[in-house]
Amino acid sequence: MIEVNHLTKRYGSHTAVEDLTFTVEKGYVYGFLGPNGAGKSTTMNILTGCLAATEGQVTIGGYDIFEEPIKAKRLVGYLPEQPPLYGGMTVQEYLSFVARAKGVPVRRLDEQLERVAAVTGVKDVAARLIRNLSKGYRQRVGIAQALLGEPEIIILDEPTVGLDPLQIVEIRQLIRDLGRERTVILSSHILSEVQAVCDRVLMIHRGCLVASGTPAELERQCAGKVTYRVTVKALPGEARAALEPVKGIVDVDAAAGEGGRTDLTVTASETGADMDERLSFALSDRHIPVLRLEREQASLENVFLALAQDAPEAAPAEEKHRRRGRRDRA
Ligand code: ADP
Ligand code: MG
Repeated sequence: MIEVNHLTKRYGSHTAVEDLTFTVEKGYVYGFLGPNGAGKSTTMNILTGCLAATEGQVTIGGYDIFEEPIKAKRLVGYLPEQPPLYGGMTVQEYLSFVARAKGVPVRRLDEQLERVAAVTGVKDVAARLIRNLSKGYRQRVGIAQALLGEPEIIILDEPTVGLDPLQIVEIRQLIRDLGRERTVILSSHILSEVQAVCDRVLMIHRGCLVASGTPAELERQCAGKVTYRVTVKALPGEARAALEPVKGIVDVDAAAGEGGRTDLTVTASETGADMDERLSFALSDRHIPVLRLEREQASLENVFLALAQDAPEAAPAEEKHRRRGRRDRA
């Protein structure tokens, strides 16, 4: 349905999206998951023909979005991050305006307006001015306009942002319902939302695709790893030197703490009990006292949180500075 090949978008010297390659198959709900600034909106704006790419290729239903934009765009309904809703129009006026702009034939206009209003639950507010609607209803109207023209693919950029918990539940249900008949791509920075709503996840971080698969597959990929939180009495460099050669250890993060202590975050790919032993023996062989050793199973949640913390815009500057300062790669 959608093929994205080596897509890159640069704003000046800043690379917002880097060498993205993925395929969207018909009939699934895809979740574009990534922290703020990951490049989700940029990618969606390119997929929908609203923004030019710097490099790479996008085809929608076989049509190149840059070479045959009109044919490609006809297949896609889009709810951008800031939908262009006209507050001074009623819901009915706005939807019929969009339908005409999308070229819905006059004879099918009423039937289509009726249907999208029913699907999105905006019939009761059809005569209300958009500016007087709650955010939840405005979002429904935004989804309704995306559905006009009967596109096969619906792209929704952060459709639940700014909604209250009840509205979130309703919009998620609406998206799942849409996914029964159409291909849906939504973006979100909330892992649980993507897990709850999507059949497939595309995890994006700093403009790069870092993982993709079903939510269960991603869980399994994480399940093969284990993280240890270790506190030792040694210098960070000594602790790292002791642990890095140990079989199964894939990453050691060491941060100097108080009173000659070092806090370690050790990632291992082997989860068996003898990993615990190898780790503590490796330290005691070097006469490094172990003050604490805890293991925690890597979950998708933890992996995602770790990615999100590294995101350029997720943390305020001083926070990022602190994190970097903690690391000792000497
Ligand atoms: P997301 O939707 O995942 O939060 P965006 O696609 O909006 O991410 O942004 C990705 C990166 O590109 C961010 O670092 C953002 O600051 C930058 N960016 C987005 N739009 C522009 C623009 N028009 N000019 C310059 N930089 C931009
Ligand atoms: Mg965005």
